[in-house]
Amino acid sequence: MWRGAAVRVLRAGGAGSPRAASGEAAAQLRRRLESELEDIRGAGTWKSERVIASRQGPHLRLAGGGAGAYGAAGRALGLFPRCDARASLSLPAGILNFCANNYLGLSSHPEVIRAAVEALEKFGAGLSSVRFICGTQSIHKDLEEKIAHFHQREDAILYASCFDANAGIFEALLTPEDAVLSDELNHASIIDGIRLCKANKYRYKHMDMQDLEAKLQDAQKHRLRLVATDGAFSMDGDIAPLREICQLAQKYDALVFVDECHATGFLGPNGRGTDELLGVMDKVTIINSTLGKALGGAAGGYTTGPKPLIDLLRQRSRPYLFSNSLPPAVVGCASKALDLLLESNAIAQSMAAKTQRFRSKMTAAGFTISGKDHPICPVMLGDARLAAVMAEDMLNRGIYVIGFSYPVVPKGKARIRVQISAVHSDEDIDRCVEAFTEVGRKHGALP
Ligand code: PLP
Repeated sequence: MWRGAAVRVLRAGGAGSPRAASGEAAAQLRRRLESELEDIRGAGTWKSERVIASRQGPHLRLAGGGAGAYGAAGRALGLFPRCDARASLSLPAGILNFCANNYLGLSSHPEVIRAAVEALEKFGAGLSSVRFICGTQSIHKDLEEKIAHFHQREDAILYASCFDANAGIFEALLTPEDAVLSDELNHASIIDGIRLCKANKYRYKHMDMQDLEAKLQDAQKHRLRLVATDGAFSMDGDIAPLREICQLAQKYDALVFVDECHATGFLGPNGRGTDELLGVMDKVTIINSTLGKALGGAAGGYTTGPKPLIDLLRQRSRPYLFSNSLPPAVVGCASKALDLLLESNAIAQSMAAKTQRFRSKMTAAGFTISGKDHPICPVMLGDARLAAVMAEDMLNRGIYVIGFSYPVVPKGKARIRVQISAVHSDEDIDRCVEAFTEVGRKHGALP
């Protein structure tokens, strides 16, 4: 009721309608921003957002229409930002979704949703406080304990996101006497976190152990060395060589930090992550990961590792100290997701089988899929335009996948990224492969 009334007032240009700030400074700012936006459009790197009217899952409904209405709705929603002629096309009513990080399908799992509702009812909407003032509830402590238990670490600390966990750890841990060695393709949040700290910075070539060793040798002059890597890299679906990294770390007396956002919950026999997959759970010192992907997909992140480190982060880590506590409903989702994974590895195993099905069928069809055994399956196409038109044509066939090109990935390495989920059926996967084959032949990606 309230929202409807507010929207009506806005549409009528009433009391709530936006007002442009006046004055020369505001006008100058507006001109500068508009020119910057135009540059982004001109560079072909504009990111538009699809508006979804259903829950996250393998089958999505887009906002704004049913069968036959998707052409106009799609254009209005930015589905076809470069092509107005698409307005006349109609898309299937349901979209088959292959581009979320919902690896285990827990985002809409009935028990996860019920746990969120129960936590909301029992603990309220939120804390209106940071953790150390008036913002720690029993469910926060329980979830931290569960995370540490899941990863077999001493303790864990929650953040509003893994971006925050990455932004908060390096500055709190490393001083100008120390060194951090980071894979060049690490996630933006690791790069930003490292920028914030005063340690000596080394960037080694992507997964290049010779280069890492050379940098470790150079870094011997510093008090402490920390090697930082993603466990699985989200653009290529490739997995960090953690065994080799840990061997080098041992040789050069370094610590290992792994960002497990694209691994927690499903890599390894019990879904513990890359360290379990590669048999180095006792060699990785610090893990940061997210609650916003496989673990229910709501939001939140964490660090897990040695107790004194977690204690220090509670005292010193700025995104933890100066940001609101995680809302109870979000905590409830993640906690239930972890319960499900601690009970059984069946969901993780089912996702692995689906991934294998997609990768082998696509390879048999003649496509090159980057990475190995990871649900991130980049279909390598090379040409940026080819990736864009194929992704658009896949959507015309009701399959939602995303094309990536420079500057998100290196020049000449454009691709369509497909992400598999445990809740895709075999039929969903086969439909996706068939559509890729048709579209690939049509556009010359396949003979
Ligand atoms: N690290 C990696 C490797 C990621 O892919 C992401 C999210 O895209 C993050 C960190 C940030 O996670 P969150 O969404 O919890 O902030």
